[in-house]
Amino acid sequence: MYVCGPTVYGHPHLGHSRGPIFFDFVFRYLTYLGYKVRYVKNITDVGHLLNDADAGDDKIQTQAKLDKLEPMEVVQKYTESYHDALRKLNLNPPSIEPRATGHILEQIDMVKKIIENGFAYESNGSVYFDVLKYNESHDYGELSGRKLEDLIAGSSARSLEGQEEKRNPNDFALWKKAEANHLMKWESPWGMGFPGWHIECSAMSSKYLGEEFDIHGGGLDLLFPHHESEIAQSKACNGRQPAKYWMHNNMITINGQKMAKSLNNGILMHDFYSGNHPLLEKGYAPMTLKFFQYQTHYRSTMDFSNEALQASEKGLARLFNGIETLQGIKPTNSGSFNVEEWKNACFNAINDDFNTPILIAHLFEAIKYINSVNDGHTTMDQNTLIALQEMLPLFVGDLLGLVNDKEEGNAEADLMQLIIDLRNGAKENKDYATSDKIRDALNEIGFTIKDGKEGTTYSKN
Ligand code: ZN
Repeated sequence: MYVCGPTVYGHPHLGHSRGPIFFDFVFRYLTYLGYKVRYVKNITDVGHLLNDADAGDDKIQTQAKLDKLEPMEVVQKYTESYHDALRKLNLNPPSIEPRATGHILEQIDMVKKIIENGFAYESNGSVYFDVLKYNESHDYGELSGRKLEDLIAGSSARSLEGQEEKRNPNDFALWKKAEANHLMKWESPWGMGFPGWHIECSAMSSKYLGEEFDIHGGGLDLLFPHHESEIAQSKACNGRQPAKYWMHNNMITINGQKMAKSLNNGILMHDFYSGNHPLLEKGYAPMTLKFFQYQTHYRSTMDFSNEALQASEKGLARLFNGIETLQGIKPTNSGSFNVEEWKNACFNAINDDFNTPILIAHLFEAIKYINSVNDGHTTMDQNTLIALQEMLPLFVGDLLGLVNDKEEGNAEADLMQLIIDLRNGAKENKDYATSDKIRDALNEIGFTIKDGKEGTTYSKN
C-alpha cells in the first residue's frame, strides 16, 4: 500500500490528519486479516511548486528563505512536527517513509525511460511529459474521469506565462531546470535541476512495492493531476497501471466552509489539541479527533464544529465506559443478544468499503445492551459475555486504534496528587529544601505547581 504523504513546509493542520487516520485503519485491518502489508508513505521534500501547474517557487525553498534556514532544516523541523502530531493519535508508523530527495537517481532513471519510450521531451534543460502523445495510445483521464479535450479547452483560456517551454499547457514537468540561485538541485543528463512533483511517487512506489501493487491512497485533492499523472508516468515507463485499487479520502470543512488562509480557519493540529484558536471553544483530545473522523465515511466530506466534536467526546466516553461496565457483568443462563449476528454485522461494515460510521453504530448497539444488562433490565449469557469481552477491544482498540486517554490522564493526575502530597508533607515539616526541590524538578519537566487558597494545584507548561 502506497499513500501520498505531506509536503513538509509547515506545521500539520487538521486536513493532514484525515488520510493518516483512515489509512492506519486500513493498515490495521488488512494486517489483522493476515495480509503482510508493506505500508509506504512518502514525505515530499523537493519539487512541489507553489502552483501545481509547474509554476512558482519550490514550497520547501520558499519556506527556507522565509525562516532563514537550510531547506533540509525546514524538512526536518516540519517532519518532526508532523510525526509528533500523528504520534498523539496512536497511529502506526508506515513500514517505509521515503523522501523524494533520497530517490533522485531512481527518478532520473524513470524520466530517461519515459523519454526513450517517446512520451517525454527535453526543453531548455527541463523535461516534460507529452500528454497529447500519450493520449494517442492511452487515456489521460482514466482515473479522474477528465477528458483531454476539456482540459485543453480550459487551459488555452489561461495565461501561458512561464509555460512557453511546453508543447502543450497540459504537459507536466518530470524534471525542472534549476536557476543558478536555486537551493536544491542535482546533476542530471539534462543539466542541473530537480524532479517534478509527480515523478517521486512513481519512482518510490515502484522501488518499494514493485511496478504493480495493490492499493494506492491519498487525499481526494491528489486525484488530479497528481495521481492521474502517476498512472501516465508508470504506463509510459513500463506499460503497467501501478495500483489495483485507488482510494481517496475526502476533504474536511470547518463550520461548513472549506479551510482557507483568507477565512483564518486553518486549524493546526497542535492548536486543535491545546484549544489555541479563535474557532475552538476548548482543546480536544487526539482520541476525540480520531473518533470524530471515524463517524464520517472516508469518501464523504467531514465538517468540523465544536458541537459535533463535543458530541464525539461524549460518545467516545460512553463507548469506553460501556467496555469498563462489561468487566463487571455477571452472566446468567440466558441472554437476549445475538452476538454472532452482531459480530458479522461489524465485520460486514468494515468489509463494505471500510464503513466506519456503520461499524460505530453497531458498537453502540452492544454498549446499549451492556448498559441495559447492568441496569438489570435484561440478562447476558456466558458466551455473549466472553465474545463481547474479546470483540469490543478488538474493534475499538486493535482496529480503530482508540485508546482511553482519560485513563492515562487519570494516572497522571493521581501521580501528581501523590507528589503534591509528599511536597506538602515536607513543607509541614519545614523541610523547605525538599519542597523547593520537588517544585523545581516538576517545573523542569513541564509542570507548574501553585499554592492557593483552595490548596495546591498543578498545570502543564
Ligand atoms: Zn504522491
